[in-house]
Amino acid sequence: MIKEIQAKTVIHKHNKAFPVMYDLNPYRGCTVGCKYCFAQYSHYYVDLGNFFKDIIVKTNVDKCLDIELYKKRKNKQQIKIGGVTDAYQPIEKKYLLMPKILKIFKKYRIPIFISTKSDLILRDFELIKQLSEVAAVDIAVSISCFDKKNAKIFEPAASTPKKRIEALSKFSGICRSTSILNMPVIPYISDNYKEFDEMFAMSKELKIDNIVSYPLHLRSQKVKNNFFSIVRKHFPKVATQFIELYKNSSSPNIEYISNLNEIIYSLQKKYDIYDSYTPLHKKQEFVQLKLF
Ligand code: SF4
Repeated sequence: MIKEIQAKTVIHKHNKAFPVMYDLNPYRGCTVGCKYCFAQYSHYYVDLGNFFKDIIVKTNVDKCLDIELYKKRKNKQQIKIGGVTDAYQPIEKKYLLMPKILKIFKKYRIPIFISTKSDLILRDFELIKQLSEVAAVDIAVSISCFDKKNAKIFEPAASTPKKRIEALSKFSGICRSTSILNMPVIPYISDNYKEFDEMFAMSKELKIDNIVSYPLHLRSQKVKNNFFSIVRKHFPKVATQFIELYKNSSSPNIEYISNLNEIIYSLQKKYDIYDSYTPLHKKQEFVQLKLF
């Protein structure tokens, strides 16, 4: 179900930066369909049905943004686009909300942070480039599995991991930073050295600035149960080990995390790419994602 609405406000402030304190979500819900999606909770609270199918479209997002930014025009705080949705999910091809949003940000010279799993972002390359000439723009793509077959299982409507990195690389040298959010790393499935090594090598070749890796966190019992079923079905050889790791906890244990750290650290040194992202506004209380 697609429901078009007229939003009252579109910029929301959080208590802590993640890594940015303000966000704007042109949609509610997301058809990318990631099996580990943290944002699913946002539909539970407001009784909106299926997060992956029932999508709310804020058709007046640009008009609201124009009014809100005019009021806050002296406050040049960075705004994250897509905290609980992907602004470049497939429906954006039809609604074309992002070009209008980018023009408003350019009008007020407001810095932004875009995180996506879609190479559709390249459609707006010129607009993002123009905005980056007057305000800081950080671009990130998130990748949980570098292996494209596994990525299709966990993130069915996302661009392939290679396409995401290729798209990201086009912004290298144009935007303030380009980052890979290598998260969530899925234990026993996407945490092998070979996959990480290929991702780091490609990122080095394409001049990506930062990679931050973080393991899977299964926030609620509902998400956990769904995840267990997927692992049993598609990865039966590691299902027992995987379920053991999460059955009494939402995150992997210290031993697992230390091993993951060692692999990532060795690749950071090998390729000289680190988790070196620095928040634009240093005074913000930044929720640190890195493990090291
Ligand atoms: S792209 Fe982001 S918001 Fe969309 S389903 Fe995946 S994790 Fe959730």
